[in-house]
Amino acid sequence: MFIRTVAASFVLATPVAMASSFPDHAVTLIVPFSAGGPTDVVARHLAKAMEKSLKQTIVVENRPSAGGIVGVEKLLRSAADGYTLLIHNIGMSTVKSINPQLQFDPQKDFSYVGEVADVPMTLVGKRALQPKDFGSLRSYLQEHGKSINISNAGIGTASHLCALMLMSKLKLDMTMIPYKGAAPALTDLQGGQVDLLCDQITTTLSPIQANRVKSYGTTSRKRLDSLPNLPTLSEQGLKDFEINVWHAIYAPKGTPEPAIDRLSEALQAALADKQFTDSMFKLGAVPVSADRATPASLEQHLGSQISLWSPLIEQSSVYLK
Ligand code: ASP
Repeated sequence: MFIRTVAASFVLATPVAMASSFPDHAVTLIVPFSAGGPTDVVARHLAKAMEKSLKQTIVVENRPSAGGIVGVEKLLRSAADGYTLLIHNIGMSTVKSINPQLQFDPQKDFSYVGEVADVPMTLVGKRALQPKDFGSLRSYLQEHGKSINISNAGIGTASHLCALMLMSKLKLDMTMIPYKGAAPALTDLQGGQVDLLCDQITTTLSPIQANRVKSYGTTSRKRLDSLPNLPTLSEQGLKDFEINVWHAIYAPKGTPEPAIDRLSEALQAALADKQFTDSMFKLGAVPVSADRATPASLEQHLGSQISLWSPLIEQSSVYLK
């Protein structure tokens, strides 16, 4: 009887104690892409904002490679105690369809914290690329086919998905060049080593504005406030060409609920912090509404995005490489 009482009070006491003490040391936020890329930029602003509410440091750790898979697997090997988190983007909903051999399942093997921000993409080209607009790029691609290359942040990433959709809609093949993240891909595009890249506006905005790259269109439904003269790809004839790169926070499966609640609360506080939201808007990102910054909403959104993208990836599988 005594043992039962002690055991019961221990089980009950643990979450309560954790709720009040968590976090009592630094939290690590894994970015599965290179530093300076679009996901990394969102992560660093978010970490600063969440630190205010958690009153602990958030260490951003870049683990680029294999289209984000290395970073995801690092999270899966970490203790489920709330001290190691992952920020990922739309790639979490496409990675399994593009790499069916993967051991992990985004819908089974994680705890969810919540969504962070939506980011549209832009199709950009090296400055020396001849076509000035999407109409002439289209004919140019038809003429030059595989001699044109399009880079991406790795197989299964948002930029890979965008390139795949582009080839599929245009019914033509280009040469895909995978990088460890969008940052080195964008650097090489500006250096003229590759022809095209479709990537989040968070890092393409400044080179577009400074005229260091050519811009051909956005993957948003409507034109962007930050680039009102740049037409969407849909309005330029690629019907329904819409890709919204949503970003979200994950934890290892089995992370205690009090820690998840505390992290989700800190995420909500960041989304209510004007400094954070202004920094996002400035980059062309749209912070999510508070109702999307929850574990339940992320779980539901991930599921619907997997259902949306899997058949489309299947249809474009002829271009998968
Ligand atoms: N933008 C990249 C992607 O294609 C990843 C990154 O943020 O570096 O998913």
